Amino acid sequence: MAFRNRVLVTGAGGFIGHHLAKRLKAEGNWVRGVDLKEPEYEPSMADEFELLDLRKYEDCLLATRGGIGQVYNLAADMGGIGYITASHAGITRNNILINAHMLEASRLNGVSRFLFSSSACVYAQHKQREAEVTPLREEDAYPASPEAGYGWEKLFTEELCRYYRQDYSFETRVVRFHNVYGPLGTYEGGKEKAPAAISRKVALAVDYGHIDIWGDGKQTRSFMYVDDCVEGQLRLMASDYRDPLNLGTDRLISINELVDLISKIAGKRFTKHHDFSKPQGVRGRNSDNSRLRQVLGWEPAVPLEEGLTITYHWIEDELRQAGRLSNTLSALSAD
Ligand code: NAD
Repeated sequence: MAFRNRVLVTGAGGFIGHHLAKRLKAEGNWVRGVDLKEPEYEPSMADEFELLDLRKYEDCLLATRGGIGQVYNLAADMGGIGYITASHAGITRNNILINAHMLEASRLNGVSRFLFSSSACVYAQHKQREAEVTPLREEDAYPASPEAGYGWEKLFTEELCRYYRQDYSFETRVVRFHNVYGPLGTYEGGKEKAPAAISRKVALAVDYGHIDIWGDGKQTRSFMYVDDCVEGQLRLMASDYRDPLNLGTDRLISINELVDLISKIAGKRFTKHHDFSKPQGVRGRNSDNSRLRQVLGWEPAVPLEEGLTITYHWIEDELRQAGRLSNTLSALSAD
């Protein structure tokens, strides 16, 4: 198969970057993956995989060397709501350095297109105070009052991408992901997000035991399966659209309902314990996909039940292989 393109995926040792590198490779591209670490659950499919620290400018120059045509910049210091609210200074500094250096190194090394992975955390917090939230349109990021730290950095790097287009005619694409889930994503240790954390708790807890939920569980979100996330990025990269674009589903679901769905998949029943000492983020967040449909002629399609079934069974298998499910018979709950 002839190589279509030389592509760099940063964050290729992480969840979305690993899936993306796999798909780009399967489509016949030559792929370089870069990260601080190797992928955790299976080897990278990239042609080259380099361990680099993209907070350092010299490492960004190395990552983008050798005729790279496209950069998917997914490297970031990030995690679920517990993680991103715990250390604003460290996370923000790390991500500012990664993104500013990656943009400049990509420009100087003659990259033709650069995709920045932004987030729904850029949206103004006062527009997300109701569980029955009005879906967020791209304009709703302004007037700006994003998530502290992580969200401010994403919003500013969106702007930096725009300045690079204006001042250097450097082609950037900006995608705002809304809660991505799927197999091969981290499910414990503090960086995991709700679908993976709940799947782990459900797998480890005994039938008729209890499940701990952060907050009252009435907070709402929408969730996108990772294959849709990869498909959307490829489509956006190929398009001529340069402004920030939502990439998510618009099916709103509460965390309590998410727990019920995953419990049903597992065939277990639980009592919910709500832990009000834990952060729960904004009250409601949903994606308005009008522009996504208009620009890409497509939107995420994998039903939540289908994606969660795959994800839950992958996490359950992981725990079984690690010998951790046999102990649950005598346990009352999992934290
Ligand atoms: P992830 O944590 O699994 O992947 C990010 C990767 O970046 C990690 O493997 C990490 O080691 C790597 N990284 C961190 N610092 C680095 C550095 N200094 N040098 C090199 N690599 C470094 O997260 P993910 O879920 O795959 O997210 C990918 C991108 O999508 C991130 O930019 C994230 O902010 C964005 N995003 C993700 C979601 C989601 O729901 N997963 C939602 C919104 C935005």
